[in-house]
Amino acid sequence: MKTNKNFNNLVPNYLFAEIAKRVNTYCKENPDKNVIRLGIGDVTLPLPQIAVDALKKGADDLGKKETFKGYPDYEGYEFVRQAVSDYYKSFGVEVGIDEIMITDGAKSDSGNIGDIFSKDNVVLVTDPVYPVYVDSNIMAGREIIYAASNADNDFLAMPDDSVKADIIYLCSPNNPTGAAYSYDQLKKWVDYANKNDAVIIFDAAYEAFITDDSPRSIFAVEGARQCAIELCSLSKTAGFTGTRCGYTVIPKELERDGENIYKLWYRREATKFNGVSWPVQCAAAAVLSPQGQKQFKENIAYYQENARIIAQALDELGIYYTGGKNSPYLWLKCPDNMGSWEFFDLLLTKANVVGTPGEGFGNNGAGYFRLTSFGDRENTIEAVRRIKELLKK
Ligand code: PLP
Repeated sequence: MKTNKNFNNLVPNYLFAEIAKRVNTYCKENPDKNVIRLGIGDVTLPLPQIAVDALKKGADDLGKKETFKGYPDYEGYEFVRQAVSDYYKSFGVEVGIDEIMITDGAKSDSGNIGDIFSKDNVVLVTDPVYPVYVDSNIMAGREIIYAASNADNDFLAMPDDSVKADIIYLCSPNNPTGAAYSYDQLKKWVDYANKNDAVIIFDAAYEAFITDDSPRSIFAVEGARQCAIELCSLSKTAGFTGTRCGYTVIPKELERDGENIYKLWYRREATKFNGVSWPVQCAAAAVLSPQGQKQFKENIAYYQENARIIAQALDELGIYYTGGKNSPYLWLKCPDNMGSWEFFDLLLTKANVVGTPGEGFGNNGAGYFRLTSFGDRENTIEAVRRIKELLKK
């Protein structure tokens, strides 16, 4: 019997454990201090009412013989895929209902999609990076190369023609940097992928935060249907982090190595996944309806205002940052060339504010720091006041 020794190649990620340890120690030693957490990557506002009502009705359906539901279709109920397709249409992107699969979220999808590709592919990720892309490919034993996102490219790594990659993970708006690719930038990635016979796995988990004309879907970009897979979810869009519902979009014409990619993904899902529950699919369709969109957009607007408040403070302090405009994340350069952990300790002990050290997301995160706008307004305002007081010269 042998275990998967690729697991030995995973880099232990102590980031959130180390943050919790330092915060707990500080709070224990200073019980009178009101520590504010601006490091959270989870939403805090409750589900839109329309989703709650649909969940309740869906649960009632399961309790009656006439409306009971067993296993759902592997690809998700048609009315939910129609709701996703209509949602795409609302921002100008056409995707067919037969190109959509309803799933339990973008984390599992980004971790599972690799099942359909050979181990022999070279994977490219941008650095800093959402760690799931890296760890899932290490588990599969694939070679990973990194494209540097840094201050020189405003944390938007671009393709390098001298590098050959087969699978490219892009996340825009990005976690952790908050930076969002423009149309022209994404077009360069699409052209690179088509030229190199590569596939782009595009994580659009934060598309609902976009306020400018940055593409909300890779499929807004010409040529993407020939090279891209999109992953998205209702987690950050509509507060579904605990409810769990996502979707993948794979154009019917996407083929590689003589195989149809949608068919491979369908086969993978039909083999290893039995679908999203009826009440949750009902809730997903409800939040994607025009009335539902109105409700979740109010929550997004709340987080966006928090982000604006943080961004304004960073502007006043003259601190370089990305994000905040199209994203709940703000990615800032630690002042006075401090290291990420040094700045973490300073903020914790002198301002009683918790953020996330950038180096937890990759080598290019060293010296950077992530703040999020998922907290409540009052705490965000107070945290910003303390940060300004601490850092003003
Ligand atoms: N993709 C990115 C870039 C994320 O930041 C997150 C969550 O933080 C996810 C995917 C996970 O989303 P889900 O809740 O749909 O699994």
